[in-house]
Formats: sequence, structure tokens, C-alpha cells
Amino acid sequence: MFVDEVYISVAAGDGGDGCVSFHREKYVASGGPDGGDGGKGGDIVFLVDDNMNTLIDFRYKRKYSAERGQNGSSRNSFGKGAPDMVIKVPRGTIVRERESGRIIADMSGSEPVVIAKGGKGGRGNAHFATPTRQIPRFAKPGFKGQKLELKLELKLLADVGLVGFPNVGKSTLVSVVSAAKPKIANYHFTTLTPVLGVVKVAEGVSFVMADIPGLIEGASDGVGLGHEFLRHVERCRLIIHIVDVSGSEGRDPIEDFEIINNELRRFSEDLANATQIVAANKCDMAEREQIDRFKEYIVGKGLDFFEISAATTMGTKELIGFTANELEKLPPLKVFEPDPVPLWNPDELANDRSFDITFEDGVYFVDAEWLEDILRMVDMEDYESLQHFQLALKTSGIIDKLEEMGINDGDPVCVCGFEFDYVR
Ligand code: GDP
Ligand code: MG
Repeated sequence: MFVDEVYISVAAGDGGDGCVSFHREKYVASGGPDGGDGGKGGDIVFLVDDNMNTLIDFRYKRKYSAERGQNGSSRNSFGKGAPDMVIKVPRGTIVRERESGRIIADMSGSEPVVIAKGGKGGRGNAHFATPTRQIPRFAKPGFKGQKLELKLELKLLADVGLVGFPNVGKSTLVSVVSAAKPKIANYHFTTLTPVLGVVKVAEGVSFVMADIPGLIEGASDGVGLGHEFLRHVERCRLIIHIVDVSGSEGRDPIEDFEIINNELRRFSEDLANATQIVAANKCDMAEREQIDRFKEYIVGKGLDFFEISAATTMGTKELIGFTANELEKLPPLKVFEPDPVPLWNPDELANDRSFDITFEDGVYFVDAEWLEDILRMVDMEDYESLQHFQLALKTSGIIDKLEEMGINDGDPVCVCGFEFDYVR
């Protein structure tokens, strides 16, 4: 079964907790704090695997989580960071945030991509010693790892897409011009999964051709087979439109040609406007008049026309040579840019904006799960970003509460592990 759309959840690992510990040694009076930091949680990383060509594995395993970092320990020992969890996907997989549809990554390249970040480790008490606070009896818990609901969508990466009615000879063409061996048979819809074939044109020159299951009328409305496969043609740089010019199934080639183009147009204007080469197939069993009539029509539309017989390979070499030439003039395969991470919007804050403030050893500790999410998005070096953060502190009532507790200018505040001095 060909699966090209799945929903999965991923959870990066939480950071390990910081440790509370004091240096101890024989004959040495009470030592200073030496609790180490927790280790970082594992990231969720995606990586292309060219041995995969469907998303079927994700039908059976839908939840992925990386390990949490180790806790810190005494003697300033840092907890070990957890290993990243590497998830392999077929080339051309588009990773989206399920709810917003935002593109996180287009896995078309070979670089690994971090999709969900592991939480930072919490700080051990060794960090919290100050001249006035020599015995910090607290450490911070690790940050939460990022959790995401994802939609994975496979859009195959092929330079050339073959389109046409079922049974016109698409699979046959792929099988004679590449090493791929798609199923060929004299009945409709033998091709149920797109097949990619590498077409070698000359030494060091090749392109990828995709055999797409046959389109039928109404495919773009989701009637029958076809619609779901059109997305695989979307990225193609060029389309070869195969028409059975012999009319061996009792249809008219001109009508066939128009019906398929209408389907493409209904799916997307871009697809309809893509460079298209028309290949009249089954010329071995067509009458000369049939071929000429169709040729006149296609050439009249200003399109490139080729007479072929995929079964006997007549004319296929010319078609492939011409296609390779055209590809050289066309832009490279379309790769989708990730959408920007939305700036945090105060109106969309989590409903539960509860928080907890404790005062320990001269420091105000603010803990709130929703703030952790915001903190992850905030760049503390960036002025605008900081303003957002301050707004969050204000609108949630945290500032009021701190004032109520008697905070003064310059007092240290620690928000979810992030420390700063309070300024009115
Ligand atoms: P697809 O559905 O478009 O992939 O079509 P197939 O490649 O599976 O071919 C459908 C049928 O047409 C098969 O029986 C093929 O052997 C036959 N066929 C394909 N190309 C030619 C051709 O050039 N000439 C003839 N006579 N038959 C062909
Ligand atoms: Mg086929």
C-alpha cells in the first residue's frame, strides 16, 4: 500500500533536573554548593532515507519520544545529555504542524533537521551561590522538551511526471527508459503507487521520471483514483502527457488530451501551466491518419509533439533526449521554504495562566508551564522579543504579585530557570 499522508506526534526529551548538593570532604568543614546541572533532553531529528519511498511505517508507529537528560549530581557533575531521536523519512516529505498547517521543514535535502527541541537541563545549586546566599538549598528542574503534533506529507521529487489516462502506456515507457520495473498490464489501475525511475541520458546526465497512476475524469474532485496522486506531479519540472493515439480503448485522443488537461487545471493552475510535452503512444498500432490528425491539433496549440511506441521503444530515445534538453532550461525542483514560527500572540495564550511564586534566599522564583513555552520562543538578546516577554509577565498578573510580595528594584527574579534583575 502506498501511504503519502500521515499524522504523528513527537516529543523531544525533557531536560534533566539540577542537583542540590554540598561539597563534603573529610576534615573539611562544610563546603560550598556543588550540585551540577541537568543534561539536555534529546532532540527529535528528521533525516532523509533514500531507501524509503512511502510513509507507511508511520501508520504503525505514530508516537515518537526522545529520552530526557540525566539529572545533575554532586561534585559539579553535569547530567549527560540524552541522544537525539533520529526519524527517517523518504525524500520529499513535507513536515507540517498539524493544527496550523505551517511548514516546519521540507525534507528534500540530505541535511538532518531538528523538528522538536529537547529541554535544557535545570541548573544545579552551584549556580545559585552569591556573596549573600552561600547555602543555596535549591536547584531548578529541567525544561520541558517540545511536543508537536505533525502532519507528514510526501511530495515525490521527480523532474518529470507522466500523466495520462489509465492504460495509455505510462508504466511501459518508464520501464523502457529506466531501470525501474513498474507493473504493466492491460487493465486499468495496475499502477497504484507512484514509481520513480532514473533515466540515464548520457554519461553523468540523468533525470528522475515518475510513473503516476492514471488520472480519470473527476480525479481532481476526488472521484476515484488520481486526485491524491496529483500532488506528486506538483513539484515536477516538466510533464510528459501520454495519449493513446491508436484509440485502442475506443476513446478519442484529442478528447483524452483535453480531459486530462482540465483535470490538471482543476487541481492547480501551476500544474496546468507547467511545461508539457505530448507523447502520442501506441503508434505501432495506429493508422497514419489518426496520428497526423492528433499531431496537427497538438502542434496547432504550440506544444512539442512526439510519436512513440513505448512497447517497441520506437521514438523513445528522441523523446528522452528532447526532455533532457528542456530540463536544462528549467528551474530546479521546487523546495518549500519553512513558514516562520509565529510570534507569540498574547490573545492566543493558553487559558490556564496560573503561576506560582516562591521567595527563597533572596530570589523570587516564578514557575508557570505556559511561560516556559513562551520563553522557548523568546530571544533574550532581541528587544522586541523581550517586550513580548514583559507583556506576558504584566498581563498575567505576575508583576502585580511580585510587587505585592514586596519586590524591590534590582532584586533577582528567576522565571522558569531564566534569571534577571527586577527593574520597575
Ligand atoms: P499505464 O496504465 O498507462 O501505465 O499503461 P501500461 O504501461 O500498463 O500499458 C497498458 C497496456 O498497453 C499494456 O498491455 C501494454 O503492453 C500496452 N502498451 C503500452 N505501450 C504500448 C505501445 O506502444 N504499443 C502497444 N501496442 N501497446 C502498448
Ligand atoms: Mg501504469
